[in-house]
Amino acid sequence: MDSLDFDTLAVRAGIERSQFNEHSEALYLTSSFVFQNAAQAAARFSGEEAGNVYARFSNPTVTAMQQRLAALEGAQACVATASGMSAILALVMATLQAGDHIIASRGLFGATQQLFGNILNKFDIETSFVPATDLAAYRAALRPRTRLVFVETPSNPLTEVVDIAAVARIAHEAGALLAVDNCFCTPALQRPLEFGADVVVHSATKYLDGQGRVLGGAVAGRAEVVEEVFKFLRTAGPCISPFNAWIILKGLETLRIRMEAQSAAALELARWLETRPGVRRVHYPGLSSHPQHELAMRQQRTGGAIVSFEVEGGREHAWRVVDSTRVISITANLGDTKTTITHPASTTHGRISAEAREAAGVSEGLLRIAVGLESVEDLKADLLRGLSG
Ligand SMILES: *Cc1c(COP(=O)(O)O)cnc(C)c1O
Repeated sequence: MDSLDFDTLAVRAGIERSQFNEHSEALYLTSSFVFQNAAQAAARFSGEEAGNVYARFSNPTVTAMQQRLAALEGAQACVATASGMSAILALVMATLQAGDHIIASRGLFGATQQLFGNILNKFDIETSFVPATDLAAYRAALRPRTRLVFVETPSNPLTEVVDIAAVARIAHEAGALLAVDNCFCTPALQRPLEFGADVVVHSATKYLDGQGRVLGGAVAGRAEVVEEVFKFLRTAGPCISPFNAWIILKGLETLRIRMEAQSAAALELARWLETRPGVRRVHYPGLSSHPQHELAMRQQRTGGAIVSFEVEGGREHAWRVVDSTRVISITANLGDTKTTITHPASTTHGRISAEAREAAGVSEGLLRIAVGLESVEDLKADLLRGLSG
């Protein structure tokens, strides 16, 4: 399978047919598996014989999803989890100990910030947050016990682009792992392992499913790291349901064509927004006005499907744009075929202090759009209604 192209792997990797020779991937809704005899049960439990035992450890549908995602990321191994957050938690629990230190890029997904900043510190794991694009800041934050560098690129909602290869070098010189949350780009647009990352984490809830149906997550990357994550999962239990894994497995088949269509629409919308009076600034890595446009184009195949823009007139104007939509969904979720709009300052970033929000660049006039598969003309008309010149 290794020599096959991404598009072929997306529809064929991970298939193991049952005795029924089904063509489509089977969904195994079973929590346990039976053994031929007591000796086989013992061999399976001890790990002497490979095979399924109990769905907290493995399930054929989950295995298929893991193998397909590993193939798409170019990873040696992959384990699936109940959600994106449980993927991040499992990675941390598997690789860190009390007293260890994390360096994370600023502007992480809100729950990841909460996990690192407010939960892990109870277990004596401290996190330093650094500006996503400031390489010197990563280096300056290193400590003897820095074990993990964690970045998200492009960042949410400002689409800042982290130089994965440069941060990988900094992490590795210090003996730390680099983990990249690849949720926004997916392997269809960006493969962080090729730039030196050790592991990729996913919220499969977003583009990997792609149609807003189920929660899921994954950790993919170097085999020895993924093996440690698996040991944590099989014991602690935040594993994915076979049904959710099946939905995501089938979602992967259309991932590239969805990502490319949604990116193309996002670029068109971003270019159009740049020309609108009343729009102060557009944040989109695919625009030549983006401060890391060149880096983004080296690292990603497109600018992605998330566009943020700042309107003049602060919250009042921003809320009017939101409230004037009739097609676009008002929801903080992303990665769906349906376009969504959110006002970060009053939703995803609402619990952060106003000063911290301004420092992070999340102004009162900022709006984030996750572009779906509707006609771009309909999306423009939907936004135009609330945009004043
Ligand atoms: C949604 C999201 C997560 C968390 O994933 P869940 O599946 O909601 O747990 C993590 N990182 C990013 C970038 C996300 O957008």
